Amino acid sequence: MSPPSSSSSQQTTLRIGIIGFGPFAQFLAKTLMKQGHFISATSRSDYSDLCTNLGILFFRDIGAFLESDNDIIMISTSILSLSRVVESIPFHCLKRPTLFIDVLSVKEHPKDVLLRILPEECDLLCTHPMFGPESGKDGWTDLTFMYDMVRIRDQHLCSSFLQIFSTEGCKMLEMTCEEHDRLAARSQFLTHTIGRILVEMEVESTPIDTKGFQKLVQVKESSAKDSFDLFSGLFIHNRFARQQMKNLEVAIEKLQERSKELQDPIISKL
Ligand code: NAP
Repeated sequence: MSPPSSSSSQQTTLRIGIIGFGPFAQFLAKTLMKQGHFISATSRSDYSDLCTNLGILFFRDIGAFLESDNDIIMISTSILSLSRVVESIPFHCLKRPTLFIDVLSVKEHPKDVLLRILPEECDLLCTHPMFGPESGKDGWTDLTFMYDMVRIRDQHLCSSFLQIFSTEGCKMLEMTCEEHDRLAARSQFLTHTIGRILVEMEVESTPIDTKGFQKLVQVKESSAKDSFDLFSGLFIHNRFARQQMKNLEVAIEKLQERSKELQDPIISKL
C-alpha cells in the first residue's frame, strides 16, 4: 500500500496521519478514505487488525509514523490525555513542516498546548466537528464544523483539509477557540451534564412516557455511549464549564425555593 502523492488537481489527495485511533477517529477515517485520502494512524492501543481491515496503515511506533511523511497530522486523543500525548511526540522525526490539526471538543486547551509544544515551522488548525458517530451516522449534511486557523501559512493545504467537510455538506463555521469554549459550555457541556445526571439517576423508559421524556431518555443514552473521559475533559479543560455547573446548581435550588413559597401554608403544616 503506497501513499499517493499530493496533486494540484481540483480535490487534492492528502496523506493524513491520525494520532489517537479511538471511536471518533475511526468514524472520521471512513469518510476521509471514501474521499480518496490516504490514512495512517498510531495510538496507545494496538489497532493493527482493525486498520488492516479498513485499509489504513497502522504504526505501533510513533517515530516511524512521523517518518512516514504525512501532509497533515490529526490529533484525536482524549482531552485528558492531550498534554501527555503531545509532550511525548518525537518531533525531530518529522521530515518537513506539517499541518497539525486537532479535533478535541474543547478548544482553548489544545490551542495552548500545541502552540507551546509544536515546532515553530508547523502550522496549526484547531477544529471541532460538532457531531459524532451517532449524529453523523447518516451523513454530515448541515452538521456544523467549527475551526480556528490559529497558525496557517500554507493556505492551500489548510483549504484542502477544510474542503473535506464542506464537500460532505457541513456548515463551516470559523470562530476563535475562546468563543467556541464560551458557547460550548452553554450548549454541548450542558447537554452532557444533564445526560450524565440522568445516567446517575438510572432514568429508564416507562409505559407512560411523554414525548418530552422520550427526548430525555435519548439524551441519557447518547451521553452513556460517550466515554467518561470525554465528560471530564469537557468539565476540566473548558474554563467556562465550571460556571455553567454552578448555574445548574443555583437553578435547582431556586426551583425548590420558589415551589416551597407557593406551598399552601395550611397543608404544609399537616
Ligand atoms: P475519547 O475517550 O475522548 O478519546 C479516545 C482516544 O484517546 C483514543 O484514541 C485513546 O487511545 C486515546 N487516549 C485516551 N487516554 C490516553 C492516554 N492516557 N494516553 C494516550 N492515548 C489516550 O473518545 P473519542 O470519542 O474517540 O474522542 C476522541 C477525541 O475527539 C476527543 O478529544 C473528543 O473530545 C473529540 N470529539 C469526539 C466526538 C464524539 O462524538 N465522540 C465529537 C467531536 C470531537 P487508545 O484508543 O489507543 O487507547
